[in-house]
Amino acid sequence: MATALFTKARKRLKEAAKHLDIHPDVIERLKYPKETLAATLVVRMDDGSSKAFKAWRCRYDDTRGPTKGGIRYHPRVNLDEIMTLAFWMTFKCAVAGLPFGGAKGGVQVDTKTLSKTELERLSRAYIQAFARFIGPDRDIPAPDMYTNGIVMAWMADEYAAMVDQPSPAVITGKPIPLGGSLGRDDATGRGGHLVLRHLEGELGLSPATSRIVLQGFGNASYHCARLLHADGYRIIGLSDSRSAVYDPDGIDPVAAMEHKRDKHSLAGCPSKGKLREITNEELLESECDVLIPAALENQIILENAPNIKARVILELANGPTSPAADKVLNQAGKTVIPDILANSGGVTVSYFEWVQNKAGYYWPLDEVRAKLKSIIEPETRTIWEAAQERGLDMRTAAYVHGLRRIAAAVEAHGTKAYFDS
Ligand code: GLU
Repeated sequence: MATALFTKARKRLKEAAKHLDIHPDVIERLKYPKETLAATLVVRMDDGSSKAFKAWRCRYDDTRGPTKGGIRYHPRVNLDEIMTLAFWMTFKCAVAGLPFGGAKGGVQVDTKTLSKTELERLSRAYIQAFARFIGPDRDIPAPDMYTNGIVMAWMADEYAAMVDQPSPAVITGKPIPLGGSLGRDDATGRGGHLVLRHLEGELGLSPATSRIVLQGFGNASYHCARLLHADGYRIIGLSDSRSAVYDPDGIDPVAAMEHKRDKHSLAGCPSKGKLREITNEELLESECDVLIPAALENQIILENAPNIKARVILELANGPTSPAADKVLNQAGKTVIPDILANSGGVTVSYFEWVQNKAGYYWPLDEVRAKLKSIIEPETRTIWEAAQERGLDMRTAAYVHGLRRIAAAVEAHGTKAYFDS
């Protein structure tokens, strides 16, 4: 198995450890995932045939609590990517101070080729294969790329049938009538919005003058764009998996989403001035103040990093910047707000959903939003200040912050120093 992505991701661990006085036991513990399960899902298709799909779930580390992380449906998803995403989730949960470890799941499938009934059978098959691996106090899945509320509903239903009782806390991101939390739908985008607005002064950004480009137009990106636009920021570029559009006079993301729902493409969406269709590469390198990669991993790489014009990169996707590109961006004096902070709003409200399911007591929307803010803003502040004080980039500061919390949990079991004394 190729482990290129994982090997690169794990290097962050060693870099962060250099800035902390932690016991080597901690690094040893975090070297490999705790456990990974691979399965083949054989699904009955609408035409009567059977089709096999590769699927995985990886629980990276559960020292700080049950593992948490989404399930991704994507034609190119693989074990290397799932392990890496589980590793990132471990740090994301630690950065947000949630009592969770990290996990991730995935199915190698192009959902665009499935009917809705096939999608339901595939999602139920996933739970049949992984039910013994997940659990409300063991490992709690959630949506990720190309999975959503109804997929979570089928999965929760299948799990309930298997354990013979409703068990809403086994999965988050559920529809509201099935125990979902108010405010979970836009939480990832809202979290990114909160981080950016909180650092606005430090980053020299303002709604009146700053222009924003987003790559990817899924749930996280749409809500982040919508909230920034409502604040007065000018959204000048957008893309989805099919097309990219640019208008320096501005695009209304709500109108763009309506157009996309209608026409299945962003091409030709309404905008203020003259809308141009551009390539994905041009979009990333376009003239703007803030670039928000919100699609797949490895979009900003060594080859295009020198051409990035944005001063600020807000990573709404997981892992959009390669380590080599990161160096180029840092050396050029750009601020990269790392994924494990920038997109932590989603898992934070997932945590709220899990707490509400366990308590059987549900919170109003304003309470969810206030609680999200009360977590995101202080963690952002801590990371920003640590970066300034120690002369670190924000990613390293975020990893140091997360690792400190994970290390405290590992060390609380006793380290070599304790057993030697
Ligand atoms: N898939 C999302 C992420 O990458 C959310 C995970 C969750 O809510 O557990 O953060």
